[in-house]
Amino acid sequence: MNEIPRTERTTLKRLPKRGSFDREVINTILDEGFVCHVGFVTDDKPVVIPTGYARMGENLIIHGSRASRMLCALGKEVDVCVTVTLIDGLVLARSAFHRSMNYRSVVVFGRAHAIETRTEKLAALRALSEHMIPGRWDYVREPNERELQQTTVLSVPLNETSAKIRTGQPVDDDEDYDLPIWAGIIPLRLFAQTPVADPLLRMDVDIPGHVRSYVKP
Ligand SMILES: Cc1cc2nc3c(=O)[nH]c(=O)nc-3n(C[C@H](O)[C@H](O)[C@H](O)COP(=O)(O)OP(=O)(O)OC[C@H]3O[C@@H](n4cnc5c(N)ncnc54)[C@H](O)[C@@H]3O)c2cc1C
Repeated sequence: MNEIPRTERTTLKRLPKRGSFDREVINTILDEGFVCHVGFVTDDKPVVIPTGYARMGENLIIHGSRASRMLCALGKEVDVCVTVTLIDGLVLARSAFHRSMNYRSVVVFGRAHAIETRTEKLAALRALSEHMIPGRWDYVREPNERELQQTTVLSVPLNETSAKIRTGQPVDDDEDYDLPIWAGIIPLRLFAQTPVADPLLRMDVDIPGHVRSYVKP
């Protein structure tokens, strides 16, 4: 197993048995998600901003407009905390107290740094595109120089990172198992529906294979 070393702040105090530092487990969660929440302090106040991301090796990549407050603030190498959460089910207990959710989540601590060189920037933008829909980058028009200039790309190392995972049925108090109350799990899943073509699409453009066969695990 390839474990990420735990640190004082990634050590789970609450229900540590649900924690994992296995890089493969963490990578699998990151590769399945679409949205991360980026927490940082700006003007002495905390803020948490949702955004897209991709994993590129042992780094998390985020990008956006040069005008973005988040990207400007993070580009100054401030401390950042990024989370990714996948919801697997609603856990319905016999008591209100033990209601829960099945989930897989990742917390990343670190400092973002800007990716500056053209080659590295293009590689990171490719990773972002391929994370969302594999096969798309080679199909679409590449970013031009103006678009590259307008885009900030940041990388956060995945070397201070934890995962936490809840699975299974509700855990009720012993005396509650006799209650005539339904308990169990409602599994939840994000899935792709039939693609809807842009009404402005040229008549002679067929749906490409990477869109037709798109399935998220
Ligand atoms: C969808 C979802 C729903 C949840 N609902 C609840 C709820 O209703 N009530 C509740 O108390 N908790 C809930 N949790 C768990 C919650 O995320 C925290 O783990 C928990 O509240 C303990 O917080 P803490 O700051 O005391 O953790 P601590 O154990 O003190 O955290 C120490 C370190 O452990 C790691 N860690 C903690 N939590 C997570 C995590 N979720 N994922 C990855 N690493 C983690 C981090 O590195 C953190 O810095 C939920 C989690 C998810 C993903």
